[in-house]
Parts: sequence; structure tokens; C-alpha cells
Amino acid sequence: MARWARPALSAFRPWRPAGWRSLFTEVGDVLGEGRQGPSGRTDMVATSLWGVRTAPCAVGLAVLNSSITGGRRPISFSASASSIFGSGGNSKKEKLFLQDIVELIQARACQRVVVMVGAGISTPSGIPDFRSPGSGLYSNLQQYGLPYPEAIFELAFFSHNPKPFFTLAKELYLRSCRPNVIHYFLRLLHDKGLLLRLYTQNIDGLERVSGIPASKLVEAHGSFASATCTVCQRPSPGKDIWADVTEDRIPRCPVCTGIVKPDVVFFGEALPQRFLLHVLDFPMADLLLILGTSLEVEPFASLSEAVQSSVPRLLINRDLVGPFAWRPRSRDVVQLGDVVHGVERLAELLGWTQELQDLIQQETEKLDGRDK
Ligand SMILES: [Zn+2]
Repeated sequence: MARWARPALSAFRPWRPAGWRSLFTEVGDVLGEGRQGPSGRTDMVATSLWGVRTAPCAVGLAVLNSSITGGRRPISFSASASSIFGSGGNSKKEKLFLQDIVELIQARACQRVVVMVGAGISTPSGIPDFRSPGSGLYSNLQQYGLPYPEAIFELAFFSHNPKPFFTLAKELYLRSCRPNVIHYFLRLLHDKGLLLRLYTQNIDGLERVSGIPASKLVEAHGSFASATCTVCQRPSPGKDIWADVTEDRIPRCPVCTGIVKPDVVFFGEALPQRFLLHVLDFPMADLLLILGTSLEVEPFASLSEAVQSSVPRLLINRDLVGPFAWRPRSRDVVQLGDVVHGVERLAELLGWTQELQDLIQQETEKLDGRDK
């Protein structure tokens, strides 16, 4: 199995908060109707994904930076955040701990939290990890007759033989997995008005199911929520494919009979247009929360470097990963071990445990009602 490439940080250009007028115009163009292609993708961040061999996070940033000619940052830190973080790179360098993050949130010094999540938040819901040897999804794909595991997410193989992908899709669909306490913690973060954006690598859609609105989500590797004909590019709601998929039929386009593929990002495909929001979100963030990801897949992984150097980054993960391991910052906080336990601990320190339990009960009852 191919190893995932570590991001080449030498290629990474840190974001500078300048030129917002042209930036907003650029992002507005791409996210608006102006340049939206039929598949809802943008070439500006056309980078290969899932196991990218190079480190192209800088691609999107570099393209957008090239249009920057000057200007001022429109949103300033709150007074309290400024006093705690300092301004720009001249911040105080004292070491932070989990309790410090808790106090920043409680003092509302952190109100624009950007969250990055990966497979580690879905495995507690019963979704197989894509990369863990033995228990991971790749290891369980032998039954599909693939030449190698990654082929299930390769367009060339999919065009030739879409059966393995749809068999896998059916398996995931029939599992009817539900959000877990981590998803609901993030929902609570949103309910409290603290979530600026949630960037997920997961394609299971559990963030949506937890009740976090789509406007707060960037599903960086796509999802099953929508689908596109691979021939005429006709878009359709993702739910349209399930009748076929559950009956082991390949979903076909009603217009041209081409194969209809869920908008899950395959190797080498462009990222969803919403991924461009990172050029606005990360410079504005006043806390970066990273949960359950190995930070090995580009360009997603390099986003962890895109917050200002004065902004605290909290990693709750099984292992020390990515820049937390090889280019740590003075304001990094790391909570290693089981991610569920780590998030429960954070909720406890914040005094949110009861609210979280109430939310889970309320949402579980809703899902029970839906499934009846
Ligand atoms: Zn078609």
C-alpha cells in the first residue's frame, strides 16, 4: 500500500491578511454562480486528494494570493482576544494547556473556532477507518476484486468497473450509522455561536445528521449528499441513487445513461468549491480545533498551518501528528489518547456535559422517530 505523503512545508505560503476586497471578489465569484461548473467543482484548487503525492495546499492560496494588491483586514480580534493573543506574530509565547483553552472559550476570547476533523471522529460511529491496517476499510476491500485498495476511489477504475465502489457505498448506507458524542459536541459549539466552520475529511455526512447546518460545513472530500452524471455532468440529489444501489444496480443518468457518481472526491479530482472558504476562515479563526485526523492527506493537512501564529491550536487525537509533531508552535495544546474521551473531558471542563447529554438525547429521539 502506498504511503501517504507528508506535506512539504517549504512549498507552503503562510496566509497574509491583506487584499480582502479582491479576495472576497475572487471567492465570491467561485462560490457564486459566476464560474460554477456543472459538477460544483473549481479548478483553482484542483489538487489530487486522498493520498496526495505532493503538497498542493499552497495551490489555492498561491492562486488567490496572486490577486492580492493590498488592503486591510476587515475583522479585528475582539479586545479580549487581542489582549490574550497579542496581535500578529508578536504574541506572548507562554505555553498553554487544555485548561487555558477552556478559559479562553469561557471568557469568549475564542468565538471563531475553526474545526478540522478526520476519520477518527467517525470510527466511534461504526464507520471503518480508511487507512488503519487490519481494521481499516482498505483491508476489508479484498472481497471486491480490486487490483489494489485505492483503486476503489480512482476514476479510471470506476469508469471500467463501478461495482466495487457502489458495493462499498451500499455497505456504508445500510449501516445507518449515527453521529456520536464528538459530532454533538461540535453541534453544541455551533449552537453556542462559537463555530466559524467545520472542515471535515469524512464522506459519511454525520456532521449534517448531527444538525450542524450545511453553511457551517466544508466537506473537503465531498459527500453522498449529491451526485453527478459522469458523462453529461447532470447534477442530482444524492438520495436518487439509493434505490438502485441497494438493489445492486449501477445508477444511470436519465438523460444520457452515463454512470451517476456520488460527489465523493476521487483521487485526482478537484475539491468542492466550498473548500475555497479556507482562505477566509483560517485567517479569521481565533482557535483551531483538530480532532481525529492523521493530518497526512493534502491539501487538507496543511490547513492546520493556515491560522495565525498567535492562534492556539488544540489537537485531540490518538497520536501526535502533522505539524504538532514536526513543527510545533508555542500555543499548541495536545490531548492524546481516545478522541471520545478527549472531547468528553473538554466538555466536562467547559461545564457542558449536561447540555451535551440533553442534546444527544433530543437528537437521538428525532433519529429514532425518523427511522420508524
Ligand atoms: Zn448524463
